[in-house]
Amino acid sequence: MKKSLDVTIVGGGFGGVKTALELAHDPANRITLISDKDHFQYYPALFSTATGHDHRESFVPLHAMVGHHPNIQVVNDTITSIDTSAQLLNGSKSYHYDTAVLALGSVTTYFGIEGLDTFAYGIKSQKEILRLQEHLWKEMSDGSDDEKHYVIIGAGPTGVELAGALGHYVRSLRKEFGIKKKRVTINLIEAAPRVLPRLSEATSKKAFRRLRSLGVHVEVNKKVERQTADALIVNGRPLTTQTVIWTSGVANAPFFKANESQFEMNERGKVKVDKFMRSSDHVYVIGDNADTPYAGLAQTALHDAIFVAKHLKGNTSPYKVKLPPCVIPIGENWALFEWGRLRFYGWPAAILRSFADVIGYHDVLPIGWAMKAWRAQSKKQLRMPETIES
Ligand SMILES: Cc1cc2nc3c(=O)[nH]c(=O)nc-3n(C[C@H](O)[C@H](O)[C@H](O)COP(=O)(O)OP(=O)(O)OC[C@H]3O[C@@H](n4cnc5c(N)ncnc54)[C@H](O)[C@@H]3O)c2cc1C
Repeated sequence: MKKSLDVTIVGGGFGGVKTALELAHDPANRITLISDKDHFQYYPALFSTATGHDHRESFVPLHAMVGHHPNIQVVNDTITSIDTSAQLLNGSKSYHYDTAVLALGSVTTYFGIEGLDTFAYGIKSQKEILRLQEHLWKEMSDGSDDEKHYVIIGAGPTGVELAGALGHYVRSLRKEFGIKKKRVTINLIEAAPRVLPRLSEATSKKAFRRLRSLGVHVEVNKKVERQTADALIVNGRPLTTQTVIWTSGVANAPFFKANESQFEMNERGKVKVDKFMRSSDHVYVIGDNADTPYAGLAQTALHDAIFVAKHLKGNTSPYKVKLPPCVIPIGENWALFEWGRLRFYGWPAAILRSFADVIGYHDVLPIGWAMKAWRAQSKKQLRMPETIES
């Protein structure tokens, strides 16, 4: 007779939710999904939400994702420690597990650069996005038409996407608030010798040209040294700005460092896993947390989740690495696509990205909610909302 499973998952993000959904198909399985937030974040749309689109494209309540499965119990708690010998996860109380799946994602790191944690804006959570938007709205509502400088640090996918969208957003705000002039400059600062350093040189060049055509001032080989209230010190020179947006470094969830005696980690703090994604008996580590070649992408977290669910159901094939395709929108109706040697750019890639988002939402959401989140992408939100509804 097939054995039912009792699985405790930590993390209500891509990896955690997908694992829960995959296991919940069998009503005999019991799944506990513990997360510190009551909502899921669709990270690929955060740059778009930050630049004036409906918050529902990025933030979805967890109950909408798993509520239709009575065998998934959602618990709102922050897990701070694990005892692998007693099989306990500890938060505001202790949870005994038969099998634990850890998918806690990443956190922002400023690499110790002075001032960034105080003055820079981020776009990694709803709170950060609201803080940035409030700042931009306040700036516009003062009615003055002085010049504004915006600086984005990090020309990885998020920085590039944001740089492509920010100019248009700021111009829309200016119109909304009835400001006639107000010149806007956007600088994109990168420490590596080129934008999108993890993609091919050809794609990087295309991105550079596209950003330039949108008026973004790209500066590579630049080292950010310090931030003050009204300047960013780059390569020893101050850049006057009141708006610095940090899209660079991420580090593994601090939970692992805090529990390092229970895990073996690589030099970047990612957890070493065996061929079935286990860090020890009964504990699986997936998504951003695991030491796999493409960790750090939502598609990898989904791939890992499907793999672990299959393994728990009895599949004995080892984990296989999967190269995820990369689609990066830059400005309106333009994107770049790269998947190994396959590359194309422009509106066809933008259309592909739009389809990819429908699939991305539907990977973790029932079709009704997936379409709701996808449609929210075309809704503008140019004034400060009273409340953010999900
Ligand atoms: C701005 C941005 C844009 C991105 N864009 C893309 C993109 O376009 N395409 C792409 O493929 N990838 C993208 N990524 C990366 C992608 O979002 C991550 O790789 C993916 O979310 C990882 O999934 P995960 O399940 O490992 O973690 P997450 O999805 O981050 O989920 C982790 C969950 O664990 C919860 N949690 C954390 N600590 C605890 C704790 N101690 N106790 C309980 N719960 C906890 C968190 O609140 C969260 O709900 C982007 C990332 C960022 C930051």
